[in-house]
Amino acid sequence: MPEPTSPFGGLAIDFGPAGDAAPIAAAPVATAAEGPHETNVLILGSGPAGLTAAIYAARANLAPIVLAGFQPGGQLTITSEVENYPGFPDGIQGPELMLRFRQQAERFGTRIFDVEADRVDFSRRPFRAWAGGVEYRAQAVIVATGASALWLGLPSEERLRGHGVSACATCDGFFFRDKAVAVVGGGDTALEEALYLTRFASKVHLLHRRDEFRASRIMQARAERHPGIEIHRGVTVDEVLGDESVTGVRLRDVATGGKHDLPVEGFFVAIGHRPNTAPFEGWLAKDEKGYLVVEHETHSRVEGIFIAGDVHDHRYRQAVTAAGDGCRAAIDAERWLEEIGVAEAVTTTAW
Ligand code: NAP
Repeated sequence: MPEPTSPFGGLAIDFGPAGDAAPIAAAPVATAAEGPHETNVLILGSGPAGLTAAIYAARANLAPIVLAGFQPGGQLTITSEVENYPGFPDGIQGPELMLRFRQQAERFGTRIFDVEADRVDFSRRPFRAWAGGVEYRAQAVIVATGASALWLGLPSEERLRGHGVSACATCDGFFFRDKAVAVVGGGDTALEEALYLTRFASKVHLLHRRDEFRASRIMQARAERHPGIEIHRGVTVDEVLGDESVTGVRLRDVATGGKHDLPVEGFFVAIGHRPNTAPFEGWLAKDEKGYLVVEHETHSRVEGIFIAGDVHDHRYRQAVTAAGDGCRAAIDAERWLEEIGVAEAVTTTAW
């Protein structure tokens, strides 16, 4: 009987033990006393874009350094089940998926620091970035800092965050079984979150400030015909109510100015995302929505600085598209480094 053959052509892929999502291991903390850390490729961000770039750069012998940011693993670490990432037919928990990305990047020698770049100098090579006073120098930089959820900005919203206020229905919906909840927003995210929450909540109130939704027609139709969703148009949220935890929201009718309280125990904010671009102010171009501008392929307007993932992409915002972007940025960086004589490109011949 012939030996069974691997569908990967004999390539052994070891993702480590399966099972419950383990917390992401603490990375070493760099200190200023160690002096500047030097690398061919510095990657800012550790979501799917950053870590895929790291896997490719590391396998191309570029010894990358990743500054993982304050939320190592990025937005997927506050998600529960991920059902649309290819290769996982039964789905996978977001944190576990990102742990696997990280292990794969480290396996090829990527150095990952759980710090956030707060300042950069892209005026000349080596490019420089600082995180908590520690300097990092690189011949090329891949910016993959992603985007963060937006909040309404109410003091009561901030006070009750984690006590009934959330920006992630897939993370926290489970806690609201048989309870009334509200979702604010009128885009695809808000409608998707509202529909998701109907799995748990006794009632989902969808609160939108205008009469017309921004969301796609198919999502609108689904929300409108769902018996578990009640849509409130033309209302804004003035306050989240509750001392220890959410007990309701105070709504204001945009047309009349009239106020009334809606009793809910969960309040989900789904009003979009803001790209994480603060350190690049003045160095990299932004579009009218504040997202970084890619000049061609993954190149920014500064030669040697590349851009990948949600920090420039407000259209697709998917883990798989961000990962693809990270791959492209790493290959572009590698080729650019070869062009300027810093490194020899190996990726195109390595597979
Ligand atoms: P979005 O399309 O920008 O929608 C944000 C919504 O929040 C808008 O309806 C906006 O109201 C509302 N909003 C913003 N600030 C507000 C405030 N301060 N108070 C009250 N409401 C506020 O963001 P998104 O829904 O996150 O979607 C982003 C992109 O991802 C879109 O391109 C979307 O199509 C895509 N996406 C796709 C899917 C999918 O295909 N499955 C899922 C999720 C997201 P106004 O309408 O009045 O401006």
